Amino acid sequence: MIESYLGEAMLKRAAEKKFVAFDVKNIRDYTLDKHKKVDERPYGGGPGMIMTAEPILRAHAKLKMKGKKTKVVMLSPSGKMFNNIMAAKWAKQYSDIVFICGRYEGVDDRVRKILKADEISIGDFVLTGGELPALVMTDAICRQIPGVLGDHASVEESRNASPRVFTRPEILEFPKATKATKTKPAQKGMLHKVPSVLVSGDHKKIEEWRKSQQK
Ligand code: SAM
Repeated sequence: MIESYLGEAMLKRAAEKKFVAFDVKNIRDYTLDKHKKVDERPYGGGPGMIMTAEPILRAHAKLKMKGKKTKVVMLSPSGKMFNNIMAAKWAKQYSDIVFICGRYEGVDDRVRKILKADEISIGDFVLTGGELPALVMTDAICRQIPGVLGDHASVEESRNASPRVFTRPEILEFPKATKATKTKPAQKGMLHKVPSVLVSGDHKKIEEWRKSQQK
């Protein structure tokens, strides 16, 4: 799952050009029993299964960290909310970031304590596992590493980091109605013009408008 996304587009190029390196561990490879068991019932009862600490700690011990400035992140829907400011800060601050992806009802809390991990959430919703959150964060952090996007794209990124981004001056196409969407997807479109200020050519006014749209 993870390797498939890392093997595409920007992240693939970033790794090829050695701006970043990825090391994906399958926790089951760090179990000692023949069934490769990674979960247990929680102490004190309660629903569901919890990921056990030992295989995760063994996998962590095998990681080859390149630098000393490391951070361990435990993905959790109840963690601190991730944002782009964190992405930029971490890209500068850390040489290695470890993401522990939970499954089932989460991970034995001793992992967090032993590895001094920070619990981080990517939003107020519950996903099935930590893999997508880890990839979301990896993508956002890697974009902040100088060189990864290339100069032109970096400038575009900082200009466009606004809540209102339009791709072309005149139109965005929308299907007229849900019935039309089913039969002729997005072909017979309704034209939605972008705000006139954006096509005015007045860069001062455009900047002012962009600022006024920021939340
Ligand atoms: N009841 C559990 C809890 O509140 O932690 C739900 C666990 S969830 C089904 C399984 C795993 O998915 C979590 O341990 C976490 O690693 C990951 N996960 C789910 N939603 C997430 C979110 N919004 N942000 C970060 N990680 C999330």
